Amino acid sequence: MSKQLRIAIQKSGRLSDKCRDLLAQAGITFEARTDRLIVRAKEQPIDLMLVRDDDIPGFVSNQVSQLGICGLNVLEEKLGRVSQGESDVQIIRSLGFGHCRLSLALPKTVSYEGLSTYSGKRIATSYPNILKRFLDDNGIKASVVQITGSVEVAPSIDVADAICDLVSTGATLESNGLRETTVLLESEAVLVRPRLQLSHDQEQLIARLMARFDGLGRAKNAKYIMMNAPKEAIYRISQLIPGMEKPTVMPLMYDDNKVAIHAVAKEYVFWETIEKLKEAGASSILVLPIEKIIE
Ligand code: ATP
Ligand code: ZN
Repeated sequence: MSKQLRIAIQKSGRLSDKCRDLLAQAGITFEARTDRLIVRAKEQPIDLMLVRDDDIPGFVSNQVSQLGICGLNVLEEKLGRVSQGESDVQIIRSLGFGHCRLSLALPKTVSYEGLSTYSGKRIATSYPNILKRFLDDNGIKASVVQITGSVEVAPSIDVADAICDLVSTGATLESNGLRETTVLLESEAVLVRPRLQLSHDQEQLIARLMARFDGLGRAKNAKYIMMNAPKEAIYRISQLIPGMEKPTVMPLMYDDNKVAIHAVAKEYVFWETIEKLKEAGASSILVLPIEKIIE
């Protein structure tokens, strides 16, 4: 039974740096060289597979790698409705980066009158499986033209009447005279594994990694807040700090009327909150970042 854990990530592209950063924050670092397919982690039985994002779902499904990071869009195109549990690959975390959506778009010159506008149209896409499922689910008969890359120019060169493509800001659609009408899938990068049980060592490594990811996730918006405050304002102040559990209250030397309050705010601390803390009597307010929270 293998002790080594393989993690497949995109070799170069929109997700690569974020994947490496995430692993580095979880304490897993690799040589900077990316000209090899497999790179060994420093001091851990983990290998990084550097591949095209399109290959990642298949590698995890065949257990060539035991973890993989790719966009939900690629995952659902290659393996079907994974997010609904219909696959031998399982999503174990949504990672909060690589946000985009898969959408239908029409030339601005064509008026949109509901989904039936797409009936009988030729729709260009690099996501034929997701698109066909969507059209079937909605009872729309249209012809799917599969092209890889530059999908947005398809209507202008009369290869298609409409497109189904990834959108993030919408600027590409805009500059090609297209209008987004319908979102098929909201996507972000996801961490996946085979549904099947792996070797004892691999399962332990995954559990350890997940605990580290959770520690990072909990710390993401959290802040450590410190301030001085009049004793009588302790209750009011503890109600103002967002997502706070029990604050630590300490006496201040040479001032019997005031205390120091320290607390972890688990939610984002807005300027408005800090202003309210001041109004409640707090002074010398410090808001510090938190790197990890281990519960
Ligand atoms: P590869 O060479 O690995 O096949 P690629 O060209 O298919 O790369 P990228 O363009 O690097 O892929 O995009 C990788 C993923 O980034 C997409 O599958 C998607 O999940 C996500 N993504 C986020 N924003 C966008 C966007 N605006 N356009 C395309 N993909 C995006
Ligand atoms: Zn790709």
